[in-house]
Amino acid sequence: MTQAKRGKLIVISGPSGSGKNTVINRLLQRTKWPLVLSVSATTRPPRPGERDGVDYFFVTPEQFERMKQAGEFVEYAEYVGHWYGTPRRWLEEQLQQGRWVLLEIDVQGALQIKRLFPDAVLIFLRTPSLQEYERRLRRRGTEDEATIQRRLAQAKQELAYARHYDYEVVNDEVDRAVAEIEGILDRLGGEQACTKN
Ligand code: 5GP
Repeated sequence: MTQAKRGKLIVISGPSGSGKNTVINRLLQRTKWPLVLSVSATTRPPRPGERDGVDYFFVTPEQFERMKQAGEFVEYAEYVGHWYGTPRRWLEEQLQQGRWVLLEIDVQGALQIKRLFPDAVLIFLRTPSLQEYERRLRRRGTEDEATIQRRLAQAKQELAYARHYDYEVVNDEVDRAVAEIEGILDRLGGEQACTKN
């Protein structure tokens, strides 16, 4: 019986509002690799337009705590007052089927993943500058001023973690950033092709 080769784990982090979602969506449309995006659970309330089970599984703090206690998360973290976690079962199933699972998670989660899965590839997506990040966050207009300030402070802290990542990609222009990430995936795929024989 032939078994599918175990898939790969790719983590993309970067301050929220850094254009990460746009880059990830375009990457998913274009990539030639069997890339699937993990849907996290969160206690954060949905933003306008966000759909349960698509953008996140929106859960209450009590539900999140139950899932955490039951070991249903492969990693979890608190981010600016809300909890976020990666469901374990789906991730394992996808990897077993040979898919490449993309996790869009914060730096705390990324470091947990790297400890658990040393082969995971960590990509840090950053805006050209903090000023640019602030501009994008304000343009999005989904957060109040206090939240914007907290997210900016968080982003400054996160930048210090970038050195733990395997790659740092500057999101100066969406298509260019996507092409750079696709290049990273090609190298990963190339390694796979080499080790097959
Ligand atoms: P947002 O509220 O803007 O959707 O996400 C806030 C932060 O939480 C982002 O940095 C995002 O990458 C991160 N995040 C989303 N899902 C998860 C998760 O499952 N685990 C961890 N550790 N972080 C997550």
